[in-house]
Amino acid sequence: MSHSYLTTLLYLLPLILALVLYYRRHSKKETQFSARLAETVKSGITEPLTLHPVIDTNKCIGSGACVRACPEHSLGIVRGKAVLVQPDHCIGHGACEAACPVEAIQLVFGTEKRGIDIPLVKPNFETNVSGIYIAGELGGMGLIRKGVDQGARAIGSIRKHKGSANELDVVIVGAGPAGISASLAAKEAGLRFVTIEQEDSLGGSIFHYPRRKLAMTAPMTLPIVGKFNKFEISKEELLTFWSRITRDNGIKINFTERMEVITKMGSGFVVK
Ligand SMILES: Cc1cc2nc3c(=O)[nH]c(=O)nc-3n(C[C@H](O)[C@H](O)[C@H](O)COP(=O)(O)OP(=O)(O)OC[C@H]3O[C@@H](n4cnc5c(N)ncnc54)[C@H](O)[C@@H]3O)c2cc1C
Ligand code: SF4
Repeated sequence: MSHSYLTTLLYLLPLILALVLYYRRHSKKETQFSARLAETVKSGITEPLTLHPVIDTNKCIGSGACVRACPEHSLGIVRGKAVLVQPDHCIGHGACEAACPVEAIQLVFGTEKRGIDIPLVKPNFETNVSGIYIAGELGGMGLIRKGVDQGARAIGSIRKHKGSANELDVVIVGAGPAGISASLAAKEAGLRFVTIEQEDSLGGSIFHYPRRKLAMTAPMTLPIVGKFNKFEISKEELLTFWSRITRDNGIKINFTERMEVITKMGSGFVVK
């Protein structure tokens, strides 16, 4: 073998080795993703619960950028295309959509099977029943900071009813992020309110996260409390934070009280 052949081979060897390693790693990952997807299909949990990505397979080039961006490990690459391998883990951050280099991802609420089962609310979060507002997860927007923002904004609109002839200005149902934020806003606005929570715990869905789960969020502003500047926080720290801000601001929550019926009466409602 001539000297020039040997030199070329020496240069090529690391490249070939790198390629072999890359493909081995790649196919190992694909096998893992396929296995995860098979498990999902077997368990029957194939429907995303909330806002989730839909991947245009004609555009997807299988770069894996979305897979790496997803903090919930919801996505994988199967047969060269991105797939929601764990749809029930998806909480609609949208990090995948932002990361996709070819804009193959679109975030949607409904699914073909389930349709779009989210309530219609106005920009101020009032439903088509005047006086009833829906904020947060129930409105189809599942994120902590969105719940916080919407809870406060709904109260911003409700405060115009302050001091009506009714016994209370507002009943806040649920003590998750939206309800906590709404309660703080109601307190700040000097409204007469009660907050009820069917469970015996504060925090809504967060209380049920797996132990030590890292919640990914973005800076948000809470009424009275002000800026909350974290991007990630453990479930336990977040629950401690909710407890502290409700306690320090005298927010009373009626635990184990479940709202069963709302009936229109005069200019207000009877909530049972
Ligand atoms: C596993 C998991 C991981 C997540 N991770 C993240 C994350 O990292 N970052 C992020 O931003 N979001 C995350 N989310 C989403 C986030 O937790 C929710 O979007 C957020 O909690 C919604 O707040 P909410 O107040 O609207 O609703 P919830 O948190 O669902 O709270 C609603 C509360 O209302 C109470 N309630 C309901 N009906 C009644 C009734 N009739 N009477 C009395 N009380 C009632 C419920 O008991 C509950 O406590 C995650 C969700 C899950 C499930
Ligand atoms: S929307 Fe968020 S949780 Fe869902 S797949 Fe994309 S990055 Fe993951």
